[in-house]
Amino acid sequence: MSKHIKTIPLTQIERISIVQGGGRLVSQVKRDTGCDYAMNAGFYGGNGKPTHHLKADGKVLARAPWGCWGFAWNNGADIRMEALPADTRLNYIAGVELLSPMVSDTGSIPYDPKGELGGTRGRTAIAHTGDKLILYCSGDGTRDAATLEEVQGELRRLGAETAIYVDGGGSSQCDFGGGEATRSSRKVYSYLCVWLKPQKEEDKPVNKKVCLDPGHGPGCVNGSPDGSYKEHEFAWDMSQRVRAHLERCGVTVVMTRDGAGYPSLTERCGISNRAGADLFVSLHSNASGDGKNWTSPSGYLIYTSAGPETAARNVAARAVLKRVREAGIAIRGGGLEHNAAYAVLKGTTAPAMIIEHGFHTSREDTALMKTGDYRVKLAEADARGILDFLGLPWVAEKPAGTTDTPAADWAAEAWRKAMGKGVMDGTRPADGVTRQELAVVLDRLGLLD
Ligand SMILES: [Zn+2]
Repeated sequence: MSKHIKTIPLTQIERISIVQGGGRLVSQVKRDTGCDYAMNAGFYGGNGKPTHHLKADGKVLARAPWGCWGFAWNNGADIRMEALPADTRLNYIAGVELLSPMVSDTGSIPYDPKGELGGTRGRTAIAHTGDKLILYCSGDGTRDAATLEEVQGELRRLGAETAIYVDGGGSSQCDFGGGEATRSSRKVYSYLCVWLKPQKEEDKPVNKKVCLDPGHGPGCVNGSPDGSYKEHEFAWDMSQRVRAHLERCGVTVVMTRDGAGYPSLTERCGISNRAGADLFVSLHSNASGDGKNWTSPSGYLIYTSAGPETAARNVAARAVLKRVREAGIAIRGGGLEHNAAYAVLKGTTAPAMIIEHGFHTSREDTALMKTGDYRVKLAEADARGILDFLGLPWVAEKPAGTTDTPAADWAAEAWRKAMGKGVMDGTRPADGVTRQELAVVLDRLGLLD
């Protein structure tokens, strides 16, 4: 993503400051100040000095000979559009008015579309809905680059009542945390930094819940014509891989079956509905023809019940397809088809999708789907797309062989020796040992030869 939009309730804001760059990039400023959101803000001239109206922490940094509308505040939560210069306020910033009393009077944005602010560019803007602050930042030279009129329209659709454009092109950059960032190597004069109030336990967002439905179950005959691949086994394995990613990233996962179960389609819907899932994802592989012969149709495909494209189920499907495409997985056609007849799509209250990871009637797809490497790729793409839809960041897996919890003091020395000799892998120091793990340890000590 090269465009990031943060909508922040004013009641959550602890402080807003204009921070001078001093040769720092946005992520450095975010790190140095400990703010929650940082983005470039404010025009500056070729001499590196700010232009227009800018005041930070009571100090006027730039003063234009004319007045205009911009944003002013003392602490942050009180930010609102005011006529600038607003001498009684500790902070203010001006830009190009996108939504202001003047723009609504004239109907047009006061700039020269043929000048240096014109055309399709990366854009940074600040907007206000009345009770929320919106930070908008898109990368220059990306497909999210836009004209000022497009940004104005987008902010208006987001509910903005007032808005200003605070620079763009190569200056556009933001770091909103959790990997949400628009990068640029340009060091700008000033950044807008927003700190949030520490969250109280009851204000924390409720845990997101995903219902994973491994298709079919033991005994189901669906599989490759040569009998070397069973769909239900694949679906179960994929569900465990996707589940691990989602749980690591803080999602609560509800399963419709265990490895041995084979619930009816109605039961599967009931499990999801009773759990109040935010998303239902059914995991499958596809078949064409009578399923008894190798045929040519192939590729990854998602089914949802129906349009429109703006429905949550389709937004979710698109989010997954985007990650699948990025992973280089072959997609069938446009990747998304609708079929309102599928029972799990019809009977679930959550946005629902069926993922067909490939065709087990395709010799090539089957060969891929039988490999662990391909399953790793599929599961990561599925999970990343689901997380994108839920608005949650991807949490990297811990490298194998490391552990957060050190061994207890009395065991530390033996633990270190066991790792050093390769007898144990250094993980889970406080866990019980299974019989098979014990056998491996004894073997590695050479006691079984
Ligand atoms: Zn299936």
